[in-house]
Amino acid sequence: MQYTVAQRLPPINTTQREAIIIGTGLAGCASAYHLGQSQWKIHLFEQHAHCATQASGNPIGVIHPYISVNTSLEACYYDASIKAFLSYIQQYPALYHPTGVIQLAYNSKRQQQQQRYLQQRPPTLSVQSIPANKVEDYTHVPSSYPGIFFPQLGFIRPLALCQHYLQHTAQLAIHYQTTIASIQYYNGLWHVFDNQQHCQASAAILILCNAATVQQFIPWLEVQLTQGQLTYLPPYALSSFPKTVICHQGYLLPSFEGKYIIGASYQKPHQRGLSLTAQQYNLSLLQQHLPQLHTPSSLPQLTGRTAIRVSTRDHLPLIGPIPDATAYLKTFQAIRQGKTLADNITVPYLPGLYVNTAHGSRGINSSFFGAQLLAQHLCHQHQALQAMPFIHPSRQLIKQLRTGHNIHSRLK
Ligand SMILES: Cc1cc2nc3c(=O)[nH]c(=O)nc-3n(C[C@H](O)[C@H](O)[C@H](O)COP(=O)(O)OP(=O)(O)OC[C@H]3O[C@@H](n4cnc5c(N)ncnc54)[C@H](O)[C@@H]3O)c2cc1C
Repeated sequence: MQYTVAQRLPPINTTQREAIIIGTGLAGCASAYHLGQSQWKIHLFEQHAHCATQASGNPIGVIHPYISVNTSLEACYYDASIKAFLSYIQQYPALYHPTGVIQLAYNSKRQQQQQRYLQQRPPTLSVQSIPANKVEDYTHVPSSYPGIFFPQLGFIRPLALCQHYLQHTAQLAIHYQTTIASIQYYNGLWHVFDNQQHCQASAAILILCNAATVQQFIPWLEVQLTQGQLTYLPPYALSSFPKTVICHQGYLLPSFEGKYIIGASYQKPHQRGLSLTAQQYNLSLLQQHLPQLHTPSSLPQLTGRTAIRVSTRDHLPLIGPIPDATAYLKTFQAIRQGKTLADNITVPYLPGLYVNTAHGSRGINSSFFGAQLLAQHLCHQHQALQAMPFIHPSRQLIKQLRTGHNIHSRLK
């Protein structure tokens, strides 16, 4: 298989266990944590005054099951990431709220999908089929739809999880309120520069976890930005109170700090701040899918939180080393010409540069797992990351080679 050669991972050319990480969302904090477990020294940079201020700043994040009827690459990756995350977080009961998650089958397509999932699913998670008249027993909210219930799943507080990762990273220097404006590689090290062009740190390994701004450093990476809005409901807005996470086309969460959260809209990130349209969308989805739950069709004020999700076209994250795109495209022209590649070919990478981003709507488990894979690779255990070429950034260049699309305008 030719692509195996083109996605061979680079050797680790440093004996110094030291890395720079940009971004203190879930991906950056998890990356620091996993490397910290192997006694790496970490320099962590964040443009804001504390961690988890962007997508990872939502008050609650749900561990969403991946319900698929086939063994797609996505299913394989997200199942593995949930398994890895659960086995970790279940050791910390103060961080995890395993309320259970029910996914309602709100149309016939969903019902068929759930039935097939129950027959074919991998044995990663326990799951129960719940008829419509029993849903209320599990959730405390009446439903006209049946569903499937995942008793081990639930929610976490992303900020608390980020703080936990950082508290458990021993050799950590955090630099808040420091925007990294540029990066440069020379003398065998990556150097990161602030807005005043001052070099803030140097290390052989640099990991980009800056999510929505990742193209600032690697312009050819293809990422999609969508804005998501959560809406906060006061208790008086609900006729009954969920005790589990209820997923339909959107979701309704159990009480958190006196409010109930519904979400989450998907819009182009064209405006800053809360949008009335997105709030109405969240409310209308709730009314449509849980009609027996009496809720208002509008709220007296705009309330909630908005943030940017970063994702890719193939719905898989970007985790791994960054190829030197110009040299890579030149080296692997043979793929485009249908030729067989020599087995001993050297894959051109930007030395020591890595990414852990584009976790879409599943950032809690995906960022943890991605950080674990990356740390294993950096500690010379290459197998697990090598076995998942579908998350490597290089797949985007290979796709360009196969389709013949010209990305030269986006190469630095
Ligand atoms: C509305 C909404 C609901 C969601 N719900 C869920 C859910 O229920 N379950 C789930 O698993 N996922 C959910 N997600 C997705 C999840 O929140 C994200 O996948 C995850 O937070 C991404 O983490 P991150 O670290 O990659 O990015 P971010 O949290 O965005 O972190 C990036 C960090 O980099 C910093 N940064 C950027 N550029 C620079 C720079 N140049 N210099 C220094 N610092 C920089 C930013 O300030 C930020 O702190 C949701 C997302 C949204 C928007």
